[in-house]
Amino acid sequence: MKYISTRGQAPALNFEQVLLAGLASDGGLYVPEQLPQFSREEIASWAGLSYAELAKKIIAPFVADTIPQADLDAIIDDTYGISGDDRVFAHDAVAPLKQLDSNLWVLELFHGPTLAFKDFALQLLGRLLDYVLEKRQERVVIMGATSGDTGSAAIEGCKRCDNVDIFILHPHNRVSDVQRKQMTTIVGDNIYNLAIEGNFDDCQQMVKQSFANQEFLKGRKLVAVNSINWARIMAQIVYYFHASLSLGGPHREVSFAVPTGNFGDIFAGYLARGMGLPVKQLVVATNVNDILHRCISANDYSAQPLVHTLSPSMDIMVSSNFERLLFDLYDRDGAATAALVSNMAAGNASLDSNRLAKARELFDSYRLDDEGCVAVIADMFERTEELLDPHTAIGVKAAQECRRDAKTPMVALATAHPVKFPEPVVKAGCKSPELPHHLEDLFEREERYQVLPKDLAAVQAYMAEQLS
Ligand SMILES: *Cc1c(COP(=O)(O)O)cnc(C)c1O
Repeated sequence: MKYISTRGQAPALNFEQVLLAGLASDGGLYVPEQLPQFSREEIASWAGLSYAELAKKIIAPFVADTIPQADLDAIIDDTYGISGDDRVFAHDAVAPLKQLDSNLWVLELFHGPTLAFKDFALQLLGRLLDYVLEKRQERVVIMGATSGDTGSAAIEGCKRCDNVDIFILHPHNRVSDVQRKQMTTIVGDNIYNLAIEGNFDDCQQMVKQSFANQEFLKGRKLVAVNSINWARIMAQIVYYFHASLSLGGPHREVSFAVPTGNFGDIFAGYLARGMGLPVKQLVVATNVNDILHRCISANDYSAQPLVHTLSPSMDIMVSSNFERLLFDLYDRDGAATAALVSNMAAGNASLDSNRLAKARELFDSYRLDDEGCVAVIADMFERTEELLDPHTAIGVKAAQECRRDAKTPMVALATAHPVKFPEPVVKAGCKSPELPHHLEDLFEREERYQVLPKDLAAVQAYMAEQLS
């Protein structure tokens, strides 16, 4: 399998290279040159497989020329298997479905160690990195910025990697207590939490600048763990198949509603459909940082100032992975995609109306503000006793408002456990949720992090010193 850049000017890479690559050298994102295709018969034959067994079928063609099947199987069993004391996902179904209403379901993606769906991708990514680096006898440095969920999931996913040092920057005093504790209480000689005296954008800016000029690392190479990393998207394709197979697919179409920020998660659903899974509809659910909703509903892709909401993991100004969809919509023309993205960044682009119409055959979108979000949490709890986290609540509302057909099962992705975001839950008049068993002692654990000024040179000097 070869991977190509959405901007058409970077060399094609294999899976191992793409895993370590981050952005392509032309500024684009890597996508498979051709998607693997599965027939209905083949997909139907997977009914009843465990999550891990299904993951092996779906991931194999993406990595086949880099990792032998037996090694891949072992990595996947270690990630998604449910036997043993050190299992990663706490629920036997790994990604269980729960029914909320007739033909409306939530897919619980929060049974991993950090209680958000990002564990699905980052637990696998950490193990794949370790395998590939061991083989290459190479050590790398992971550097990432987080507004909360990515950081803890990345640290959990990579903490056992012998060949990785991991630096995660978070905005000092601007992440929730649970989110901070989940990052700073993981101890390891290769783990560095940096609390930056600035906001999330400052952190992200420093990471971008560090990737652009890596001299301060004196020969070590930076690896990206945000959702521009192809392996993260790949891992997320699996749960769309898993949910569909549980609801009568592939003999029946299924629709999905996805709380969306950087467009990584929902893009995996789009790819599942491209691989042969009958998906009827994909609903993009946003908070008031609604660039994707405006684009899909009104062809308006202008950037607006960032608003801090009760669903902070979706507080974004532009969605990096949207470029991967645009590349397909523009018939995989790298030059056209590059031109469009650069116009979008300048705030004066709109999509060709035929292409937008094509996207709308599959995609719908919905936007919900904080007040609406709290109302959904209260209403759902009253009617079903299910407690939704604020991101999930936006997805559920979008599912209800946008579904085209009551006969098609609609699955809203539950992207986080409500305990991670207690504020809206309490505002909804519900009791603050309790930490699950495996995190009960989180607030007693010792924290370790370094506070640093909003200063690139200081951050890089600190990193270089720790690495030497
Ligand atoms: C990261 C995150 C999202 C957004 O996912 P994208 O792949 O960026 O669209 C939604 N909900 C939660 C809880 C998250 O952590």
